[in-house]
Amino acid sequence: MGKIWVSNYQKMSKKILIEEIGEIRKIVKQNKQRNKSIGFVPTMGFLHQGHISLIRAARAENQIVIVSIFVNPAQFSPDEDFEEYPRNLERDISICKDEKVDLIFNPKSEEIYPKEFETKVSVSELKKPLCGISRPNFFDGITIVVAKLFNIIEPNNVYFGQKDAQQALIVKRMIEDLNFPTRMHILPIVRERDGLAMSSRNKYLSDNERKSALSLYKSLQMAKKMIENGEKNSNIIKSKIRKFIKNMPFTKIDYIEIVDYEKLQSVQEIRSNTLVALAVWVGKTRLIDNVLV
Ligand code: AMP
Repeated sequence: MGKIWVSNYQKMSKKILIEEIGEIRKIVKQNKQRNKSIGFVPTMGFLHQGHISLIRAARAENQIVIVSIFVNPAQFSPDEDFEEYPRNLERDISICKDEKVDLIFNPKSEEIYPKEFETKVSVSELKKPLCGISRPNFFDGITIVVAKLFNIIEPNNVYFGQKDAQQALIVKRMIEDLNFPTRMHILPIVRERDGLAMSSRNKYLSDNERKSALSLYKSLQMAKKMIENGEKNSNIIKSKIRKFIKNMPFTKIDYIEIVDYEKLQSVQEIRSNTLVALAVWVGKTRLIDNVLV
């Protein structure tokens, strides 16, 4: 890796956790002056293997790796789980150290959103379908925080997961529309052994709910098989998925959609680059998953 200023910085101060915007900016600036490439992984913490896959990709491709841990209030509506969202900073720090992350940016909400804050960043069409229907303010909350983090960290490369397929497309659009000098990398969904997509929210599931939660992955696999076997009719596939999930206890379907993976518009007939995406409540936990076919 060669000599990296930030490593010396860490050695000197043994400090990996940065809370203040001014402080991280100073470190970013010094690394920029030394032409170091910065890889950035934005997260809400409670890290799991999905996050770690992004961190590893960033570590492999950049001289400096910065992970942000920020449970972003702007993307939660008042009736959602902001307060209960799982947090474990000590464990996250230890994972980041193991993965040789250079810096963790863990800002205070008051500094990200001071009282007088009023700017909006909105990717107006892509935010509407899928998760946007039941969570109308969700993606505006994401784009504002991601834009702010990009401005603070000035990453050369950013890493997002395909698990949040709509989010990844929206951030990609925002990067292009606002000319952020950063390259977007979208990495595959990391799953538990049995197929359940990893998510910080899986922690909420009871043992029985956990069994039902597997119906998301299983029904997507079933859809994929149907498509591979020549089924082209979206409605037929969606109703099979619906039936499969409805049969499992604790489940309540938010949406099952088949869309083009560009504009996220519903397609009647399966073509290439089609996304089968779903959101399902399992008990009090809303889970999402998708497969690209
Ligand atoms: P979160 O902490 O849930 O906001 O997620 C932070 C980043 O990790 C986002 O880019 C997610 O898409 C990504 N991510 C979350 N879960 C997974 C997973 N199971 N596989 C791959 N990436 C994931």
